[in-house]
Amino acid sequence: MTIAEETNVARTSNGLVDELRAWLEENWDPDLTVGEWWERLGMAGYAAPMLPADSYGRGLSRGDALAVAGTIAAFGAMGAPTGMSIGLASPTITTHGTREQIDRLIPPAVTGKVAYCQLFSEPGAGSDLAGLTTKAVRDGDVWHVDGQKVWTSGGQFADLGMLLARTNPEAPKHQGITWFSINMHQPGVDMRPLKEMTGHAMFNEVFLTAAEVHDQDRIGDVNNGWAAANTTLLHERSGMGAGGGGGAVGRMARAGGVAGDLDKRAGDFAPQARKTVTATELPKEKKDDSARKRTSPAQGLINLARDFGKLDDPNIRQRLVQAHILGSIARFTTERHKAVRSQGGDIPGVANFSKLLMADIVRLNRDLGMEILGARGMLHSYDDGEQKAMAQLPGGAGAVAATAQALGAQALPIYGGTDQIQRNIVGERALGLPKEPGDLSKAPFNEIPKNA
Ligand SMILES: Cc1cc2nc3c(=O)[nH]c(=O)nc-3n(C[C@H](O)[C@H](O)[C@H](O)COP(=O)(O)OP(=O)(O)OC[C@H]3O[C@@H](n4cnc5c(N)ncnc54)[C@H](O)[C@@H]3O)c2cc1C
Repeated sequence: MTIAEETNVARTSNGLVDELRAWLEENWDPDLTVGEWWERLGMAGYAAPMLPADSYGRGLSRGDALAVAGTIAAFGAMGAPTGMSIGLASPTITTHGTREQIDRLIPPAVTGKVAYCQLFSEPGAGSDLAGLTTKAVRDGDVWHVDGQKVWTSGGQFADLGMLLARTNPEAPKHQGITWFSINMHQPGVDMRPLKEMTGHAMFNEVFLTAAEVHDQDRIGDVNNGWAAANTTLLHERSGMGAGGGGGAVGRMARAGGVAGDLDKRAGDFAPQARKTVTATELPKEKKDDSARKRTSPAQGLINLARDFGKLDDPNIRQRLVQAHILGSIARFTTERHKAVRSQGGDIPGVANFSKLLMADIVRLNRDLGMEILGARGMLHSYDDGEQKAMAQLPGGAGAVAATAQALGAQALPIYGGTDQIQRNIVGERALGLPKEPGDLSKAPFNEIPKNA
């Protein structure tokens, strides 16, 4: 077990872990297919344990959900499906959907049978998401959708999309939007991957031309999609601020019918069950290694600095301590928020300033990693095979990971709302400061000047 997993498991004092271990003893079988295993995990409420107990979850707090993931990993079983189906679509549907929609749409999501993508941003609507122009026009029980989305992460693997579309252009911009669950496998949906500087095509542009979505897949009331969108975004921000999902260990399988992992053997994606050893149990020559496994949130960078002989460099040490402190503050903030929530309270703006903090951490890690690596940091390949070969060069896999991290570091400060937008939200909603001048939120959407 990693230290983080141990901590997550140790935090949970109730019988949850014992109950889960007993369930794993009975249910985990490495020879199941990924799909069969996720079916068991999802229907038992362990795939998305933060969902309400009557909606295929267990109504757990984030801390207890992390303990569930940590316990599954420590047991040596394959983890639950990850991604937008579980993290974003399911909580939005359970919050705003009808009982019929929950029973129809949540089981395939929590069992990894389907993968969702998020069709929110458009070329002219990112920070100002409520300015979106993709329109849905109703014809009986079917809505016809036309427009363009962009930045659609994982769209090429998605079966369903969380679609925001304008359904009343005459209403003020926040009041004429509706949230749909749209089928991505239809002729009206054209997906074009966009390659990033990391070398991967994580996101796509999506063209919707007379695409269809049935009214039974409308989540929430017509023109009330902004409320549902806020639920999705809240879960996106709080997930990022908390540092993501804890128990993901071992090779990852992708959810959904497109990626092709559901028929593979579950055991091939499971971590090895590991026995926890204390430093005194380690053989003498391995003792140094225990320093590499300490608890610091900056441990990866500390190890890298050690490998590159830079642990004595005062500038590097200074910034490693800074990385340790910021990472620790992120953890403590999550703990503090959990404690406040368990007493029925809340900390206004916590998801927003936690994301801002994560953005600072990601930037610091990027700069510090490059400083430690020096010229080695420029070695990168867009070919996965060559990347593996590079891991055999001096600096090893840690150096490859640090360069990849640096190239990907621009993402977090943008997605889920840029830093500037997080500050606006904290200012206006948490601190009660006046809105920005020139507020057009009350004007009918079709009367707002475009590209003015
Ligand atoms: C890796 C990644 C994955 C993503 N995945 C998805 C996805 O799956 N689905 C999806 O729908 N979207 C996704 N996005 C899109 C993301 O939500 C948008 O990029 C983001 O909302 C910013 O919008 P924009 O790119 O249009 O920038 P803009 O809104 O054009 O902003 C440009 C700049 O202006 C600043 N700015 C804008 N308005 C204000 C303001 N009012 N006050 C102060 N500054 C302002 C911004 O902070 C930014 O610096 C993803 C983005 C990234 C980077």
